[in-house]
Amino acid sequence: MPAADSKFYSARILERRDISSDLWSFRVDPCGEFPYRSGQYATLGVITPEKHHERPYSIVSAPHEKFLEFFFELVPRGQVTPRLHASRVGDQITLRKNAKGKFTLDLSGKHTNHFLISTVTGVAPYVSYIRALYREWKASNFTGAHKLFILDGGSRSWELGYSSEIKGAAAEVPWLKYVPTVSRPWEDPEWKGEMGRVDDLIRKYSDLWKLTPADTKVYLCGHPDMIENVRGIVRRRGWHEDAIEAEAYFVPLRHDFTAEAED
Ligand SMILES: Cc1cc2nc3c(=O)[nH]c(=O)nc-3n(C[C@H](O)[C@H](O)[C@H](O)COP(=O)(O)OP(=O)(O)OC[C@H]3O[C@@H](n4cnc5c(N)ncnc54)[C@H](O)[C@@H]3O)c2cc1C
Repeated sequence: MPAADSKFYSARILERRDISSDLWSFRVDPCGEFPYRSGQYATLGVITPEKHHERPYSIVSAPHEKFLEFFFELVPRGQVTPRLHASRVGDQITLRKNAKGKFTLDLSGKHTNHFLISTVTGVAPYVSYIRALYREWKASNFTGAHKLFILDGGSRSWELGYSSEIKGAAAEVPWLKYVPTVSRPWEDPEWKGEMGRVDDLIRKYSDLWKLTPADTKVYLCGHPDMIENVRGIVRRRGWHEDAIEAEAYFVPLRHDFTAEAED
């Protein structure tokens, strides 16, 4: 583990929640001061005899919480997630002392509606926004002048790891609307909710919720292909690039047909 005066904390895993076979969350004690804003990410790492492997992870928890929370997806041949997946309560991981990122909720601009679109673990920053605003709402510091509209997509309903929490909040407060959707309902026959990819539901819900480029900012988080598709859809519906925020979680590996043709 890194020395105490280094750029890293040795953070301790306090709680683990398995959501499905390849999705889970950790609650983590940073073991030091870790200021951040909702929507930022932390850099977590695991140390092997060969290398210190680090990756960015959006923070699910809100700044007022004592501990940090993260929502992970296993990438089977990845460097970090198989090691995090094998980690247990009490284990230590590295945490860079500074939070990073600009994927924060814009409450100061002209847009009072916030259309938040995610795939699977991409819901993490939105949970942080909700937890922070909920606290302010309860303390009467947030009037509800800004409204959040969430489309949360997964292949099957059990991948929507924070849907119960978000549904609970949406039932209680007037400033939050939430639609979870599954794109493979044939693998989830019990599912009675919305069906289809978030990409396919943008038009329907922007019309239903009356979200327009004049009053709405769009946030996209998670799978890079979703981000690319939805960016195109909302651009064609009149949103300007400066009213679209995006956090892509990885660069997809593309099959190189040119190289194959040249072989
Ligand atoms: C700002 C930011 C925030 C992030 N927040 C989260 C988060 O909250 N939760 C989370 O699980 N991940 C998050 N990620 C992704 C995370 O940083 C890692 O990329 C991911 O966990 C894979 O790490 P790995 O070392 O296991 O795989 P790597 O060894 O890095 O990946 C190997 C290859 O797999 C592909 N790949 C990587 N991730 C995925 C994926 N999810 N699905 C399919 N293919 C993939 C890539 O093409 C990559 O080259 C975030 C990324 C960014 C940039």
